[in-house]
Amino acid sequence: MFSNYPQRVYNWLLGLVFPIRCLGCGKFDNYVCRGCLGAIIVKKNFECIGCKRNTHLGQTCYLCAKTNSLDQLLIVADYKNSLVEKIIKFLKYKFIPDLEHPLSILMKRYLKWLTLNKKFNVFEANPLLVPIPLHMKRLNWRGFDQSDLLAKNISDTFQMETANDVIKRTINTVPQVNVKERKERLKNLNGVFKILNKEKIIGREILLIDDVCTTGATLNECAKILKANGASKVVALVIARG
Ligand SMILES: [Zn+2]
Ligand SMILES: [Zn+2]
Repeated sequence: MFSNYPQRVYNWLLGLVFPIRCLGCGKFDNYVCRGCLGAIIVKKNFECIGCKRNTHLGQTCYLCAKTNSLDQLLIVADYKNSLVEKIIKFLKYKFIPDLEHPLSILMKRYLKWLTLNKKFNVFEANPLLVPIPLHMKRLNWRGFDQSDLLAKNISDTFQMETANDVIKRTINTVPQVNVKERKERLKNLNGVFKILNKEKIIGREILLIDDVCTTGATLNECAKILKANGASKVVALVIARG
């Protein structure tokens, strides 16, 4: 049983008393109405995971490649868009898994834009979709893993293979958002992830899926162990960089 059961009951009761309203405009019926979702613009510029400078299609720049293991970072939307920030926060901290739906739509819109306007097809090398895992303890508490939901949705739509059993989070870390110092953030992640089912990743390109990237330490740590275990390339697709 999920340990945040009281929160779930509370959400359910709240839904009875206060019907669902759009997080953007307050209109009743949906968490994000069609109009507000349609108004969110996908991000048109790319940045290096390390120095945040503009790079071609978000590839890690030459200098940062020495210390950053991720090869390429793709960011779907701008965290400065208050509705994007709100959707992510409500999904994660108010336990509303339904909000995965608008985020998946945004992700798909972004991938379409990438393919049509930038002529970059993220699926060309037949990558394996891998969601950044939560620790079991936090998964039990929240009741769902938002990255896993996103990866499943994308894989269903594009018929891509997904695997939520290749990276395991062995230690329940303090959320990166709460760790201020960069050095502390990196130390916070040391040895946190473990590779399982290595045969699935050998020689494969990996597409990591996550909701938010902050310093990029989590993505880099995952990319590092994936490559150390045989992955040929690691690209990350995230909703926003906060
Ligand atoms: Zn709305
Ligand atoms: Zn750089």
